[in-house]
Amino acid sequence: MRQKSARKTIYIYLAGLSILILLISSIFFRQRIQLGALFIFAAANALILIIELRSFSSKSYQAQALIENCQVQVNILNVENAKSKELAASLKSRITRYDNLKKIIEDLNRSLVLDSVVDVLTQAVYSLISARKGSALFFLVNKQAQKLELIRSIKEDDEVILAKDGDTFDQWVLRHSAPLLIEDLKKDFRFDTDLPGTQDLRPPSSIISSPLISRNSLLGLLRLENSESGFFTQDDLRFLALVSDLGAVALENSLLFQKTQDLAIHDDLTRLYTRHYFLGRLNDEAKRCLRLDQHLSLMMIDIDFFKQYNDRFGHTAGDIVLKKIASLMKESLSELNFLISRFGGEEFLVMLSGLDKKKSLAAAETLRRRIEKEKISLRRQDTMVTVSIGVASIPFDTKDEDDLVLKADKAMYNAKQKGRNQVCCI
Ligand code: GH3
Ligand code: MG
Ligand code: MG
Repeated sequence: MRQKSARKTIYIYLAGLSILILLISSIFFRQRIQLGALFIFAAANALILIIELRSFSSKSYQAQALIENCQVQVNILNVENAKSKELAASLKSRITRYDNLKKIIEDLNRSLVLDSVVDVLTQAVYSLISARKGSALFFLVNKQAQKLELIRSIKEDDEVILAKDGDTFDQWVLRHSAPLLIEDLKKDFRFDTDLPGTQDLRPPSSIISSPLISRNSLLGLLRLENSESGFFTQDDLRFLALVSDLGAVALENSLLFQKTQDLAIHDDLTRLYTRHYFLGRLNDEAKRCLRLDQHLSLMMIDIDFFKQYNDRFGHTAGDIVLKKIASLMKESLSELNFLISRFGGEEFLVMLSGLDKKKSLAAAETLRRRIEKEKISLRRQDTMVTVSIGVASIPFDTKDEDDLVLKADKAMYNAKQKGRNQVCCI
C-alpha cells in the first residue's frame, strides 16, 4: 500500500513538473524550447506508462502463481475428500454389518433346527459380505466319512457346483483350521491352479472361507466366492470369521438337538422308527388319505417262534435277526412309499401310503418270501426265520386309523392261527 501511494506521488510530481515546464516554456521561450518541453512531457508520460506496464506484468505473474497454488490446494482437498468419502462409506458398511450381528444372533437363537441355523448363517454372509453377488457355500463335516458335505448353496446364476465334498481351498481351511482369503487366485502362490482339484466348472477369482470350530471340534465351513478378483478384503474375512465363530456354537447346539431328536424317534437296535413316532405319523397320513380319498394300508409283521430261536441260538443271534429283518423290509419295499416301525419286541408295523389292499397283500407276500429265503449266518451255521403278516387298509377295511391298527393285528393273529409263515387279511 505504501509502495503504491509513493508511486502515485512520483507520478503527480512528474506530471506537474512536466506541465509546469510546458507552461513556462510556452509563455517565455521560443518554439525550439517549447518543443523540448513537449518532449520532456511526452518522455515523462512514457516513463509513467513503462513503470505501470512493468508493475502490471509482475502483478499478473504473481496472480498466475497464486491461481496455480490454489489449484494444487484444491486438488489435494479433492483427494482428501474422496478418501474421507471412501472411509465414511466403509465405516457405514462396517456399522451396518455390526448392527446386523445382533439380528443374526437373534435369528440363531430363534431355532434349534439345523436347517434354519444353516440358512440364517449362509443368507447373512451372502447379503452382508457379498452383497448377494457370486456364491455362498455351507459345508458340514461328516465325522464318520471324514469328509465335507455341501448342505446349502446360494448362487447368483445357475452354475452347477461340482465339488460337493469340498475342493483344494476347503481342504486348506480344514488342514490349517484357519480362515482363508484369496484376492486373486491366479496370483496366489499357495495354490496351483493347474491341479485337477482346482479346475472345476466354477473357477472363482476371489474366495474367503472360514471354519466353524466349537470346543476344538471342526463342525463346518462357510465360503464365499466371486469371479471378480479383489472382490473380498481383509475386513470381509474378519467379519466372516466372526459370524463363523458365532455360528459354530449355534451349529453345535442344533447338531446335538438333531441327534437327540433322532435318538428319540429311532429304535436303538434296528434304527427303525419308534412306536410313538410311527403312530403320530400314521394319524396324520390316515387323515390326509381319507380327505383326499386315497388308499392307505398297514402291515403287522411278527417273527414266528422267535422265543424258540432265542432259546436255541442265544439273544445276540436274535438281535442279528431283528436287524436283518429291518434291512430286508427296507429292501423289499423300496419301490413303495413306506414308513416302518419296530412296534414291539419282534413285531413291526409298516405304513404304505397310496397303496390299496390288493397291492399291499401282494407286497406283503413278496416280503414274506424274501424273509423265508434269507439265510442268516451265525458263526457255525446258517439259520432262517419266517414271519406272519396281517394286512388291513383304509378305506376298504375301516375309515378310522386306530381301528386300522387293530384290524392289521387281528389279520396277523389269523395268520398265526392258520399255521404261521403266511399273509392274511380280515
Ligand atoms: P409266535 O410265533 O407266536 O410269535 O411266537 P414267538 O415265540 O415269536 O412269540 P412270543 O411272544 O412268545 O415271544 C417273543 C420273543 O421275542 C420273546 C423275546 O425273547 C423275543 N424278543 C423280544 N424282543 C427282543 C429283542 O430285542 N432281542 C431278542 N433277541 N429277542 C427279543
Ligand atoms: Mg409277538
Ligand atoms: Mg413272534
